[in-house]
Amino acid sequence: MQRNQWKTASEQLLAHWRRSGITHVPSGKLEANPSATEWLERNENRIFEENEGTANSDNSTAIVGAALVPTQSLSPSLPIEQAARPLAPVSNLVQGRWNTSPMDFVARQAAFQVLSEQVIACRKCEDMVCRRQRTVFGAGPTTARIVMFGEAPGADEDRLGEPFVGAAGQLLDKILIASGLKRDEVYIMNSLKCRPPNNRTPVESEIDNCRPFFETQLETIQPEYIVCWGSIAVRAVLKSTESVGRLRGKFHSYRGAKVMVTYHPAYLLRNPDAKKLTWEDMKMLMREIGIKVPGSA
Ligand code: SF4
Repeated sequence: MQRNQWKTASEQLLAHWRRSGITHVPSGKLEANPSATEWLERNENRIFEENEGTANSDNSTAIVGAALVPTQSLSPSLPIEQAARPLAPVSNLVQGRWNTSPMDFVARQAAFQVLSEQVIACRKCEDMVCRRQRTVFGAGPTTARIVMFGEAPGADEDRLGEPFVGAAGQLLDKILIASGLKRDEVYIMNSLKCRPPNNRTPVESEIDNCRPFFETQLETIQPEYIVCWGSIAVRAVLKSTESVGRLRGKFHSYRGAKVMVTYHPAYLLRNPDAKKLTWEDMKMLMREIGIKVPGSA
């Protein structure tokens, strides 16, 4: 990455932070809480030199990626080669509706590193902070075309720091496979980064507390599609209190992304009859993105 490209990426990153109300970077490995601008200035040389030093190496992407991936928050199983793949083509219509131009891979990784440290340091929701074991930032390639957007971490997610890893996560995996998608091709995240005690339903103020985090993630990824799994995801992304039943079956919009609504896998485990409705929704998504639907001509 050339120094002028890094400057452009830095400016985009700062613009994201300003819009999200983020003004300071948590200390982490830094000696003090610097302002967001200071953090970028301090890290400009380090990241630029890391890129420069590995630019001619066969495994340069892996080295650069590894240097930027935070210790907890990004998926340790994320294949860097895949995350570093070229951005998927985006239509002009979609491109025009996001607030900012798409970031390149290095800027996305840097943005997520900082944001994930903000999440780990966040103590806005007292009820959850005192009980959480780990925050659950999200997992998957920052260049994903599709974001799977869920509710909040459960017990397994809280223990492991990964989204959708319990029984509901296993069902999600099966749905993705049946739909011709792989878990590591999509970005998976939740409305909340912390587990509500006893898996209670998140309240509106908690969703609003976490909004700067998930909105910045979405703006950074700029996916073409967002799948809202369940009513809490609908409240977070579409800011709607309509039922899943009324919203499913058609595409909605969030900035530059088309949004599909369907039932949460945990609901499907309790109500197996609804699985056929979610399968209809997934077939709608498959037709939209050009994946052959099983049984179709
Ligand atoms: S749920 Fe979000 S806003 Fe609330 S404490 Fe956790 S990270 Fe902070």
